[in-house]
Amino acid sequence: MPDTRPVLYIVGGGLAGISAAEVLSRGEGRPRRVVLLEARPRLGGRTSSYRENHDGQMHDTGQHLFMDAYTSTRSLLRTLGTEACLAFLDPLSLYMMDRNEKLSFLELPLHNGRLGLLSGILMFPGLSVLSRLSMLKIGRALPKRESSVDHMDARTFLRNNGQTAEAIEKFWELLIVSATNLPSDQVSASLLVSVLKESLFSAGGPKTLGYNTVPLAELIGNPALEVLTGRGVEVRCQTSVSQFCIRQGRLTGMRVGKDAVTLGPEDHVVVAVPPWSFEALFPSTEMNDPLIQNIVRLSRPSPILSVHLWFKDPVPVPMITGFSESEMHWVFNRDFMMGRAFPAVHPDRQLADFSYSGPLGDFYPGKMLSVVVSGASGCLDANDEELIGRALKTVLRLSPGTPAGNLSFARVIRERFATPIFPPGQGMWRPPAHSFLDNLWIAGDMQDTGLPATMEGAVRSGVQAAVEIERRLERRSGDDRKYLVEKKGMP
Ligand SMILES: Cc1cc2nc3c(=O)[nH]c(=O)nc-3n(C[C@H](O)[C@H](O)[C@H](O)COP(=O)(O)OP(=O)(O)OC[C@H]3O[C@@H](n4cnc5c(N)ncnc54)[C@H](O)[C@@H]3O)c2cc1C
Repeated sequence: MPDTRPVLYIVGGGLAGISAAEVLSRGEGRPRRVVLLEARPRLGGRTSSYRENHDGQMHDTGQHLFMDAYTSTRSLLRTLGTEACLAFLDPLSLYMMDRNEKLSFLELPLHNGRLGLLSGILMFPGLSVLSRLSMLKIGRALPKRESSVDHMDARTFLRNNGQTAEAIEKFWELLIVSATNLPSDQVSASLLVSVLKESLFSAGGPKTLGYNTVPLAELIGNPALEVLTGRGVEVRCQTSVSQFCIRQGRLTGMRVGKDAVTLGPEDHVVVAVPPWSFEALFPSTEMNDPLIQNIVRLSRPSPILSVHLWFKDPVPVPMITGFSESEMHWVFNRDFMMGRAFPAVHPDRQLADFSYSGPLGDFYPGKMLSVVVSGASGCLDANDEELIGRALKTVLRLSPGTPAGNLSFARVIRERFATPIFPPGQGMWRPPAHSFLDNLWIAGDMQDTGLPATMEGAVRSGVQAAVEIERRLERRSGDDRKYLVEKKGMP
């Protein structure tokens, strides 16, 4: 017998689409079908991993960092059974190197709450005392409403609020480009404010950073496929959606793969694709709609570059090191992060090569390191050889004793479409969950969550779209029941 239940279609199987499907498929014996349509062969979207021929192992295409304030993401991972595969830094500890090769250790014992933040910043040797004091003031400068500073860029906001040039160059710039994937003078200040309110200056006390200890595919995409199909969600990968058909304020049909699908009066569609894939779904007659025009404004992506390096002999480097005033921003010790241990290689012989202020013993041997550039539009055109050379130089800054011949293999990954850009004024452009069409909903990291384009923003957007659909459907069935009671006297 044909299944005549109304259908909730979700287009796009990244974190936003997975979250929407997860919420809409909760509970037993649902009176609707949930269908998740994904163009690629797998779920997970931009949180992706690949099998590397060089070592036969799964690696992430780009390093992802989590915050313990990612409450919605953590809740999704709990449902997927993988939350325990995240590790959080306690205390929050990072190494930072400036352009004068001074390597400083930033340690924020956040379990001590605000006091930990205060003492950690005051003790940070990478900045002058004046700059450290200026940084502490920023917490009090955060406006109640992020939107009140959306018209200005983050750098201007920092300058207006007493941050020294040194604090901006050696600390804030790296934090901002990493959190928003744009330089501080190009990104809306409202995103900086929301990141600070959710992390260091959160109302419930400062929050720390975390990372995945299994490949992203094992953390998100693969378990999501298992959980969703187990709940009866029809997941169709390698199925691209195109050619929306619109009549009288409703989506009435779409092309799903090679098939033309007609939408019933009770069917809904959540579009959870990135902004650069959005416009192509719509017929040219709709292009004047303000919502589509705004999304087109967000469609210029900001890239991320990752250079994965494999060494014959382990190289001693900290787990995470940030580089201020540098083209390359981070070196991640991927082996250490994934729990792959090698015999200790003591870094003492190298410490003389740079000014060093941190605990000894935090240099862990790693054969696979990843060098990352956020907001990487300036370096994508360089060829692989050049980029590998620059990445290797960055590692050598940390571990100058490493012979260049120690490098055995390198993989350059240019993610040209890494995140949408949110410049000053972006709050006016980011779409809400409900679109201009009655049965069309929007999710994805571009949604107006107030957050930068992040995993947490994507998950919250998917949940938001799903909750609004649920509300609509409940209201409809409530209206139907009321109608039946009023008109037909039925219970
Ligand atoms: C290298 C890199 C590093 C990052 N680092 C971090 C980090 O450290 N912390 C953090 O929080 N965030 C990070 N992000 C951002 C984060 O990955 C994204 O914000 C988030 O994954 C976006 O999820 P999404 O579901 O909105 O979109 P996507 O993951 O892009 O999912 C959209 C899906 O829609 C599919 N699709 C598109 N068009 C169609 C169509 N016509 N039909 C069917 N399917 C379609 C796509 O194939 C894709 O799978 C990083 C991103 C990258 C690329």
